[in-house]
Amino acid sequence: MNITELARVLHVNPQELHDLLPKIGFNIGQKAIKIDNNTAKKIIKNWPIFRRQLEIQRAAAFAKKREEELIPREKKEIKIPSVITVRDFAEVAQVPVNKVLTELMKNGVFASINEKIDFDTATIIGVELHLDIKPLEEQQETEDKEDHKLEEILEKEETNDLVDRPPVIVVMGHVDHGKTKLLDSIRRTDVVAGEAGGITQHIGAYQIVRKNKVITFIDTPGHEAFTAMRSRGAKVADIAILVVAADDGVKPQTIEACHIIEAAKIPFLVAINKIDKPEANIDKTKQELSAVLNITPEDWGGKTICVPISAREGTGIEELLDMVLLVADTEASSMKANPKAEAAGTVIESNIDKGAGPVATILVQNGTLRVGDQLCFNEIIYGKVKALKNYRGESITEALPSTPAKILGLKISPAVGDILESGAGKKVKIKKMRTASEETVKSAMTMVSGETDDNVPQVNLIIKADFLGSAEAIEESLMKLNTEKVRVKILAKGLGNITEGDIRRAEDAGAKIVGFNVRITPTIENLIRERGVDVKTYSIIYDLIKYIKGEMQQLVKAEIIRVDEGRVKVAAIFRTETDKQIVGGRVLDGYVTLNSFIEVKRESEIIATGKLTTLQSGKQDVKRVETNEECGILFEGKPLIMVGDILQAYHEDEVVDKL
Ligand code: GDP
Repeated sequence: MNITELARVLHVNPQELHDLLPKIGFNIGQKAIKIDNNTAKKIIKNWPIFRRQLEIQRAAAFAKKREEELIPREKKEIKIPSVITVRDFAEVAQVPVNKVLTELMKNGVFASINEKIDFDTATIIGVELHLDIKPLEEQQETEDKEDHKLEEILEKEETNDLVDRPPVIVVMGHVDHGKTKLLDSIRRTDVVAGEAGGITQHIGAYQIVRKNKVITFIDTPGHEAFTAMRSRGAKVADIAILVVAADDGVKPQTIEACHIIEAAKIPFLVAINKIDKPEANIDKTKQELSAVLNITPEDWGGKTICVPISAREGTGIEELLDMVLLVADTEASSMKANPKAEAAGTVIESNIDKGAGPVATILVQNGTLRVGDQLCFNEIIYGKVKALKNYRGESITEALPSTPAKILGLKISPAVGDILESGAGKKVKIKKMRTASEETVKSAMTMVSGETDDNVPQVNLIIKADFLGSAEAIEESLMKLNTEKVRVKILAKGLGNITEGDIRRAEDAGAKIVGFNVRITPTIENLIRERGVDVKTYSIIYDLIKYIKGEMQQLVKAEIIRVDEGRVKVAAIFRTETDKQIVGGRVLDGYVTLNSFIEVKRESEIIATGKLTTLQSGKQDVKRVETNEECGILFEGKPLIMVGDILQAYHEDEVVDKL
């Protein structure tokens, strides 16, 4: 058999087949044209298996490449503080300022040399600049101190005072693999369906009771830009659930999530989701897990519990929860706290409410947090707890270990990841702290970029939101709107109100700005009018998404498609001129309309084409004739029609793909 023939049967390109055959054990040589029939038969028969083998090889190669990417090659180490101006950064890194600005721009950051960038942004551009960026010693120390603070607190507790606390679970995985749906399914209230736009509006936490045991779940944001925050999500958690969709397999964020889990040294189990889908392939997913991530499922002799589930249909959820309890039981010794102690916990959500001031959700990790407690961060008083609310929005008077609680009454807004402790501390001038946090908000403007294909029309966007989680959720939902024909490109996303800088950036980049739960001050409103920048604010994510969808829809180019109408069998030729004919006939099937295009067919061959410019039925001019009706046709085109010919009528429609 010819190689080209075999390639055709297997639906691959012949050159590709040449390259693939050695990989599956058929060394036929690069120049071979033929392959013996038996071998060909064997290849055709086993092609699905070979294909899978190749996919696994490819996935493994991909993982290796990623690993390699993660390994720095001879990078120059520099140390920088948490916030640094572009100029200073260039100086420390000994890189021309222009190069730094270009790198920033590549990542969507349009900064001037005096503007400040934060540590994370510096780290991102540092990769391209071949820099190994480390925080300055003093910061490193405080971070280390922070990381070990809870351990220290717990170490000081008397063993006798320690009691079991509920396990805290984090759900991680690739976007769209069903994290939200799983969390909803667990909560048994379908928030995805009920919530505006079908997305989580911000990061929170909730608790459920299973077999008389409480389990705490944290919602973590799921996009690369927030890896840092997600890592913190994993740090507050005791156990992770890695969600992998059985119809999609291991994807970049699955790998990333797995790295974060490994770094956090917490046990995890895998939920193989979407098994209700016909394309779901549990075995293939397990193969990929094992090939790419070295995760061997228990039923394959490995250590990792893998539970097939359908978050949508609720299949396997109970089993998954039982497995979570099982893992929690085995790890029980590390899940202890002293409820009698002063409270300490990590902030998992924080924002400034227009009316209520700073509002934060804390996950209590030791002690009991009570209304009236004074909370400090690094011994600085952040304020007194005026009210506590649980995950259902109900007021509570105290929160025990592993309980998420919303705190109202703080004077200073803590950052996500801060460890707050109740007790005495130092007072600071609030004005000063506010400025400091404003600075972080400014530098927290994270620049996002995706690959762009210049041929695909796109809506450029800057997102401003009240919560990091909201911005995250919005971005995720918007990314889901991307198609091959149109896409949305998020140039930047950040926290807080829309600023002059945002308007400038939008103007320069031809972008729209969308704000979620943020304000436009009168000054900014004037500026918007002056500059003609498109700015819209929303308080419902669904509306925001709908707006962008509409904008994207307008950019989708119409496609012309042919719509066959029907066929007419020619029974008579009434007149023939140089460029037209008048003929009569009967509609065999379908219908025929005025101004349709005509293909003249004789023995299935098209011998002429033209247009139907007059259509008559019983001497009357009509717009349309139906099957079995007789009609007269003025055909404009080459006058080749003869009795017995078939006229195929069709028209062209412009269709715009609905997003
Ligand atoms: P996330 O990005 O990981 O949070 O994913 P979502 O929970 O938002 O789910 C992404 C999409 O997959 C949504 O349209 C869900 O309805 C759908 N989905 C999630 N779980 C399942 C499942 O078990 N079966 C099916 N068929 N669809 C699912």
